Amino acid sequence: MSSVPSVGSVAVVLIDLQQSYTRGLWASWMGETKAEHIRQSFTRCANLLVKLKKDVPVLLSRSAIGGYDLDWAEEVGEIVSAKAYPSVLKPDTDILEAAGFAEWLGKVMRSGVSTLMVGGCTTTSCVRVWSSHIQRSFSSRGLQVVVDLSLCGARDCNYVPRCQACLDKYMMYGTDSTCDRCATPGVSTVSPVDNAVEDMRKSGVQVVQQFDWTPFVEK
Ligand SMILES: [Zn+2]
Repeated sequence: MSSVPSVGSVAVVLIDLQQSYTRGLWASWMGETKAEHIRQSFTRCANLLVKLKKDVPVLLSRSAIGGYDLDWAEEVGEIVSAKAYPSVLKPDTDILEAAGFAEWLGKVMRSGVSTLMVGGCTTTSCVRVWSSHIQRSFSSRGLQVVVDLSLCGARDCNYVPRCQACLDKYMMYGTDSTCDRCATPGVSTVSPVDNAVEDMRKSGVQVVQQFDWTPFVEK
């Protein structure tokens, strides 16, 4: 970032902080025990929302997994209900298709927002697809999308470093295995999350391990 964004220039979008990804339908398909990174990121989102200054606009999205399972995750339920943030329902991985999103973004951009902070889940799917798409669509209007990885989660297997062959198998077929080469010193390895970060950066998205929220939270 050329300069540190100020209050008034930053808005926050948190994607799919739903129970579905931690204990619900999606998690039970994928294996609930593999969602520890997602649960931890939801707790960090909740901790941020508790302290976030009230003049920082926040939008939440949800996905109707299999047409339902919309409940907020228990890590965030209390704060989300207390703050009554606006929320949109995504028909698929792309929030640009969600009714009400374009209007919300137009409104915050007219009010001076030029940095859109993104967190939520999953890093390798909705966060990756959406942040890349919106960066490409709105960069000409001066918008910078910033993904804060500390607020993002994906299934735990997405953090496992893999050799290129194992990464390709994982990305193409979801084959969650590693080979001897994956653990051989000198062989370059990439995790699916690393791969998603690379994708987002190629689209112009700024990806940070942990954004400095100090100016945006109450002391
Ligand atoms: Zn391998």
